[in-house]
Amino acid sequence: MKKVMKILAAVMASAMLAGVVGCAGAGDKGTKDPKKLVMGTNAAFPPFEYLEGDKVVGVDAEIMAAIAKEMGVELEISDMEFDSLPTALANGQIDCIAAGFTIKPDREETMDFSDTYYTASQTIIVSKDSTVKTSADLADKTIGVQTGTTGSSCALALVPEENVKGFGNGMLAVEALTNGQVDAVIIDNNPAKAYYNENPDKLKLIEGQFDDEAYAIAVKKDNATLLKNINDGLAKIKENGTYDEIIAKYIK
Ligand code: GLN
Repeated sequence: MKKVMKILAAVMASAMLAGVVGCAGAGDKGTKDPKKLVMGTNAAFPPFEYLEGDKVVGVDAEIMAAIAKEMGVELEISDMEFDSLPTALANGQIDCIAAGFTIKPDREETMDFSDTYYTASQTIIVSKDSTVKTSADLADKTIGVQTGTTGSSCALALVPEENVKGFGNGMLAVEALTNGQVDAVIIDNNPAKAYYNENPDKLKLIEGQFDDEAYAIAVKKDNATLLKNINDGLAKIKENGTYDEIIAKYIK
């Protein structure tokens, strides 16, 4: 009996060891394909992600490429509508979301967020001749937003639902503003600035009306391995100056 127990203990010990190695082994990156990290984004959100030809560039693309390099995998970018990202993450079509993506309690119910890498806030864009000066002035106005964003939540807190017009991306919302289809757009400050710079004669920015938001990378809930790899990579690129270089390159 004693001998049987001893053998059993030995078998259990080696099984546990194998389990530990299996979880934290060099091959396990927490990605669907061990050789690549698939990032989902919406490439109409400059300077965080936008198209140069058919290539997605910007802060998120470069940060994730640097993290993928630290992880020893290749980065693949999957460009889709912003409000499709959570579903794509849940069904394993992408490994993570890097999209100027704000940490938000309702999102935390279905995904896990990395350490934060950028602080942003919502900006109001109006046409140059608009009388709107503060968020309170929007009460009787029509607001264009990117569907599924924090900007959309801000708009819904200010006006009735029928006065919020959702668009597939921020550029389309700004186009609706310049065409007179909406009275204002609420969107993150850096894209707002980028859109403004493309049309400074027609647009005006109103800042400082909403709380700060923290951008982070989202992974599927309980994917602790990938979350750790991303956080380790992020810490590394913050430490070695790569992160600062990327920010300086895209945000003036
Ligand atoms: N930061 C906003 C959000 O997370 C918008 C992000 C985006 O449009 N790419 O909802």
